[in-house]
Amino acid sequence: MNDCLFCKIAAGEIPSTKVYEDDKLLAFKDINPQAPVHILIIPKAHYDSVNALDETSAPVVGDIMLTAKRIAAEQGLDNGYRIITNIGEDGGQTVKHLHFHLIGGVKLGEKMC
Ligand code: 5GP
Ligand code: ZN
Repeated sequence: MNDCLFCKIAAGEIPSTKVYEDDKLLAFKDINPQAPVHILIIPKAHYDSVNALDETSAPVVGDIMLTAKRIAAEQGLDNGYRIITNIGEDGGQTVKHLHFHLIGGVKLGEKMC
């Protein structure tokens, strides 16, 4: 997937403001933040979306959730936050590399859609 924006960010070919990195995951600030804290958490390996996961690859989501929890604590989101992943056209996914939005730092709206 050498034409994938987030693969390029994961490879360091496109700069990002990194928040966390390990051998499997990268977290970086969203370029167009929707809240005071808006961080994207991605697997370094390319998956188009949740729809591309199977029994072998699904544990990456657990790793991402635990990483999100740690980052939220580091960012001081003690009063709560939201984790979102968009899937496909109707889900509003614009970058076709699995990613989770970690959003917080403000009282978020109640609407889910
Ligand atoms: P989606 O709409 O696919 O769920 O989310 C894609 C997110 O990626 C958007 O929130 C958008 O602002 C963010 N984004 C798009 N291009 C870049 C980029 O080059 N760098 C960073 N840091 N974020 C990006
Ligand atoms: Zn990719």
